[in-house]
Amino acid sequence: MKKITILSGKGGVGKSSITASLAVALSGQYNIICADCDVDAANLALAFGLKEKDFEKWEMITTNQKVRFDMDKCTSCRKCFESCYFNAILWENNKPELKEFGCEGCGVCQIVCPEDAITLVDVFNAKVGFGMTKNGFKVVSGQLGIGKSGSGKVVSVVKSLAEKEGQGAEIMLIDSAAGIGCPVIASVTGSDYVIVVTEPTPAGFSDMKRALSIVRHFNIPHSIIINKYDINKKLAMKIKEFAKNKKIKILTKIPYDKSFVDALVNFIPVIIWNPKMETIFNEIIEQLKGEIL
Ligand code: SF4
Ligand code: SF4
Repeated sequence: MKKITILSGKGGVGKSSITASLAVALSGQYNIICADCDVDAANLALAFGLKEKDFEKWEMITTNQKVRFDMDKCTSCRKCFESCYFNAILWENNKPELKEFGCEGCGVCQIVCPEDAITLVDVFNAKVGFGMTKNGFKVVSGQLGIGKSGSGKVVSVVKSLAEKEGQGAEIMLIDSAAGIGCPVIASVTGSDYVIVVTEPTPAGFSDMKRALSIVRHFNIPHSIIINKYDINKKLAMKIKEFAKNKKIKILTKIPYDKSFVDALVNFIPVIIWNPKMETIFNEIIEQLKGEIL
């Protein structure tokens, strides 16, 4: 199974819309499965009109731990309070108190506690599930709980579930979170190919470079899609020049088209909402055939 990850340096550039339409186009030629790894704001399934209640299965998972104090053992030495890098321990009435949302479960306080008064307990921090789209392929999705941590590990669980549910699939299309954080690194890890989606805005250009630095670090073949290229042709040209200098392929340039928004509002991939878009996505597949497929 080839794993293709769609990534963007910043949000709002059209990454999930492009992933949804590319999935539909690919499914005409290949057996595919999608993995929504944007676990902080999962919305790929919605782009196919697949609502949470229509998923075949949801399961609560734990990929994170939180601290519990045994106050019978605690001697108020303050070592845990002074050692927590995340400032997740308050010092109240001469005893430690946990700021639940701040604790990353790193375990440092447990190591420094001389009285063995600290334990780490598993907490349910996310749910993962899968459902069948009207387009004939499955989407696996993960959702981190509000205020919970451990997103990178949740992404890994989503990808493992996608491998299990996608047995026999030729392609796993991974919709990564935007940015350069832990869930992005977890999405990109193990990918065979990465497509970085950008737009010609100063933030889009600069964040694209940051996203590319991660992909390069892992030495994964990659290319760029410039979305809404005609909103700033001068900057689009700069992105093209940058790509040329760095020997990065531009898979395609997509013009600004209001049908992207209309399709999203109506929970339908733009390739179906506006069949004129088929040419663009078929062209992307042809380009990918020379690269990875
Ligand atoms: S486990 Fe880590 S983050 Fe949580 S309270 Fe202890 S030191 Fe702080
Ligand atoms: S390190 Fe252990 S003994 Fe010291 S204040 Fe924290 S819990 Fe209490």
